Amino acid sequence: MPELPEVETIKRQLNNVIVGKKRKSRGLKSTSSSSPKRIKSVEILEPRLIKVSLKSFKKAVIGATIKAIRRRAKLLIIDLSDGHSLLIHLKMSGQLIYQPARHPELDSESHKHTRVVYNFTDGSKLLHNDLRKFGFVKLVETKEVLKYLEKEGYGPEPLEKNFAPKNFKTLLVNQSRKKIKPILMEQTFIAGIGNIYADEICFYAGVKPTRIVGTLTDEEIKKLFNGIKKILREAIRYRGSSADLYLDAEGKEGEYVPRLKVYGREGEKCPRCGGIVERIKIGGRGAHFCPRCQK
Ligand SMILES: [Zn+2]
Repeated sequence: MPELPEVETIKRQLNNVIVGKKRKSRGLKSTSSSSPKRIKSVEILEPRLIKVSLKSFKKAVIGATIKAIRRRAKLLIIDLSDGHSLLIHLKMSGQLIYQPARHPELDSESHKHTRVVYNFTDGSKLLHNDLRKFGFVKLVETKEVLKYLEKEGYGPEPLEKNFAPKNFKTLLVNQSRKKIKPILMEQTFIAGIGNIYADEICFYAGVKPTRIVGTLTDEEIKKLFNGIKKILREAIRYRGSSADLYLDAEGKEGEYVPRLKVYGREGEKCPRCGGIVERIKIGGRGAHFCPRCQK
């Protein structure tokens, strides 16, 4: 499932190409005109993905320009010029892929799971693919977005400056009887961390994913905090992890997988001590760790 680094990557790439600001990026060519592109039409191939009447959806989307693209937790927020915002969650297998105008048509195989296509006036497209169809597109008034997010109860954004060690420690106090890994993945605790990065953060901190929060030392809490910031930032730099179906907005795989230390590496050597990485289940989900390095 795309986590914070993956959704943030998509957000940044789409900001470069569909919001229409003059900005240079290495990969995707930014639009040369300063006026944002307009959505000419929309093709809905899987209506169930859209959690609002198709009539209201089309009314908001067609003819609109994209004013801004934001992210909160793993949710992508696309602000439209008509006063509505699209809230897109990619869930297990969602992809948002931008196809520039006059781009050689991508083979139909790579897009057989396309559910929604946004066609822009300049001939470019935004494809929303979703193999497993767990994702969604919601439509809310832009002025109501904040209220929606509050209702979701998301925890702090870990990469924001005001998320400091003391906040993290305070949050942990209320979770003292729980295991650390599921807590890191709890969206109401901290926003954006999922299975991959929770494993990596625990490894970085030398803490077993099953450790009871109340037994963590101050030193370990500090390492967990540093791990959260360091690993999420690093993963964004490498455009995320394509451990499963994730592709960035250019349709390319993220490059962080070779840098993962324990996630998906069961039976392989620990890069730190040479021990063997193990996989256990916590609450039905796999967790990877080094039994020698992590206490
Ligand atoms: Zn080790």
